[in-house]
Amino acid sequence: MHVAVPRESAPGERRVAVVPEVLGRLTAAAIDVTIESGAGTGALHADDAYTAAGATVAPDWSTLFDGAAVVCKVQAPSADEAARLPEGSALVCLMQPATNLEMVKVLVTRRIGAFSLDLLPRISRAQGMDALSSQATVTGYKGALIAAERLPRFFPMFMTAAGTVPPAKVLVLGAGVAGLQAIATARRLGAVVRAYDVRPAARDEVKSLGASFVELELEMAEGQGGYAGEQTEEYLARQRELIGKEVAAADAVITTAAIPGRRAPLLVTGEMVRAMRAGSVIVDLAAESGGNCELSEPGHDVVENGVTVIGASNLASSMPIHASFLYSRNIADLLGLFVHDGEFSPDFDDEIISGTCVTFAGEVRHEATRQLLGEKP
Ligand code: NAD
Repeated sequence: MHVAVPRESAPGERRVAVVPEVLGRLTAAAIDVTIESGAGTGALHADDAYTAAGATVAPDWSTLFDGAAVVCKVQAPSADEAARLPEGSALVCLMQPATNLEMVKVLVTRRIGAFSLDLLPRISRAQGMDALSSQATVTGYKGALIAAERLPRFFPMFMTAAGTVPPAKVLVLGAGVAGLQAIATARRLGAVVRAYDVRPAARDEVKSLGASFVELELEMAEGQGGYAGEQTEEYLARQRELIGKEVAAADAVITTAAIPGRRAPLLVTGEMVRAMRAGSVIVDLAAESGGNCELSEPGHDVVENGVTVIGASNLASSMPIHASFLYSRNIADLLGLFVHDGEFSPDFDDEIISGTCVTFAGEVRHEATRQLLGEKP
C-alpha cells in the first residue's frame, strides 16, 4: 500500500504525519511512503533522513501522489488542497469535520475516503492510535511549563538564608489527558496543585499524581465513552459560583475542560479573573474551542487587572519532535488496520474504521457531519 505525506500548510504548524523512525514499522506492514520535500523540516527531520530510512522524497505535488492509496496529514487540508488530492484515494488526519464542512463537501465530490483521528472510538484496542491523547499529552505538559515560565513567582518552595518562599498554588480545571499531564508537570516543578473535573473517575487519577481534588457540591456527570456529558447553562453557572474561591486563591490556573463536538464550557468569567491577585496567570488550553475563560483569545495574551490570560494555540506543534513521533506511531497503527495483502482494503465491520470514517465513496458516513451539512440520514 502506497502512502503520500504532504507538507503541512496551516500557518505555524511544525508537525509532520510520518517521521523517519516509524518508516521501518510501515515497511514491515507492507506500506511504502513518499514524502513531500521539506515536510519534516518543522520537526527537524531532513529529507535525507527519510531517504535513509527507505522513503521516497517528492519535490512537490506533481509527483507526490503517484500511486498513492492513502494520504496522511496532521491537520485537515484546506478546501483547495482537498480538491487537488487524488480522486478515490483515502485521507487520514485530525480532520475536525464539524469545523471544516467546505472541505468535507470537496472530499465527497472527489470520492475520497476520509478518516478522522479525532473520531477514534476510545476502546482499548485503539489506544495505540489515539492521536487526541498523544497530542493532549504534549499540550498539557507545555501548558504547565508556560504557566511556570509566565508566573512572576517560583513554582517550588525555597528555603533560603534570605527567607522562605512558599510554593505556587496551581489549579487545574478539567483532568482528562491534558489536565493530568499538566498536573504531573506542575507537581514535578514543585507547585501545590488542586484540580477539578466533572467525571467521578478523575478524582483518583488526580490524587494518584499527588494533587488534591476539589470537592464541589455539584452532581458529577460522566457521558459516553469516558467523556464528560453535555452540561446545561444552569449547571455551569453553579459550577462557576462554587469554583470562584478556588480560582481567586490560585497563582496559576490551567484550564483544559472540553466536551467533544461542543463549545468548551465557560468556567472562569471576567469577574473571576478580576478577583485574582495581580501577577496571577491563566493558561487556557481550550482557547481554540471557545475557551474555558471568558477573556481568552486564541494565540494571544490578555492582561486584565495584572492577571495574564494566555489563550493557548496549537501547543502540540510547539514540541514538534515528540508530537510528530507520537502522532506517527498513532498513524502507523491505524494504517495497519487498512492494509490487507499489501492493498488498501478497509473493513467497515471494524468499529475503529467505521467510527473514524467521515466520507467514503461519495457519501458522508459520519452522522453528526451529515446533520451539519443538512443532509437527510
Ligand atoms: P476532553 O479533552 O474531551 O476533556 C477534557 C476534560 O474536561 C475531561 O476530563 C472532561 O471530563 C473535563 N470537563 C468537561 N466539562 C468540564 C467542566 N464543566 N468542569 C471540569 N471539567 C470538565 O477529554 P480527554 O482528555 O480527551 O479524555 C477524557 C477521558 O477519556 C480520559 O480522562 C479517560 O478517562 C478517557 N480516555 C480513554 C481512553 C481509552 O482508550 N480508553 C483514551 C483516552 C482517554
